[in-house]
Amino acid sequence: MAVHAHPDDESSKGAATTARYAAEGVDVLVVSCTGGERGDVLNPSYGPPEGGLEVIRAVREQEMAAAAAALGVRQHWLGFVDSGLPEGDPLPPLPEGCFALVPLEEASAPLVELVREFRPHVMTTYDPSGGYPHPDHIMCHRVSAEAYAAAGDPERYVGRGDPWTPLKLYYNHGFSMRRMRAVHEAILEAGRESPFGEWIESRQAAEIPEREVTTRIECSDYFDQRDAALRAHATQIDPDGFFFAVPRAVEVAQWSTEEYELADSRVPTDLPEDDLFAGIRETV
Ligand SMILES: [Zn+2]
Repeated sequence: MAVHAHPDDESSKGAATTARYAAEGVDVLVVSCTGGERGDVLNPSYGPPEGGLEVIRAVREQEMAAAAAALGVRQHWLGFVDSGLPEGDPLPPLPEGCFALVPLEEASAPLVELVREFRPHVMTTYDPSGGYPHPDHIMCHRVSAEAYAAAGDPERYVGRGDPWTPLKLYYNHGFSMRRMRAVHEAILEAGRESPFGEWIESRQAAEIPEREVTTRIECSDYFDQRDAALRAHATQIDPDGFFFAVPRAVEVAQWSTEEYELADSRVPTDLPEDDLFAGIRETV
């Protein structure tokens, strides 16, 4: 079960991993906490969004369905409303009723129910910082950690299904500095222009700490599916942008894996790992 904040996050964080496991016969369910109703349109071939949140939601539902098909996974909406990324100094208040403002138990209840119904062995989510400071990404971490902790407890979330205890919880490593640097240098060495220099500098300047990598999943055979899923989010992803700037051969040679941090395990496992189901295959 891969829990994400918005439609498109599943295609930019751990996408090739989910495609690989799905291809290998794992029943993979992507969970989208919100409908992405307040996402900016990032594809210059689309104009600014017209219509209300419902219109955007409908567009993004179609995009999400195409992305899930590209990855070969199932997908479920939790039904919360996008909080948007507040910008300015001071930051404006979050919009009323948005995901990040829902009290934790109320926000976690539908995910607990889904965990008890789908019964995942492994859950993935974001680290406590959200990976980047979007309020929905931080909230996604909080509800995932709560569901992982509480779904197996019969005294919690009573009336929300029979208890089920997931065995491992991971944090996605979306954009590790080491990965970006390796790819950036390889592009420069190949005599091409790299779009990542500025990104690396701004990230360094912000002193965003690198989190621990415990688990590397070999998944370059699934990069085509990952890219197809990204492109399916047509309003959100610039087809000439950042995500598609690395020549495939450079990417595969420099970085053929996706990375995770094991946040909790209820089965014995040895680190580092190369399989999200390490320790589970042996015991289940
Ligand atoms: Zn997001």
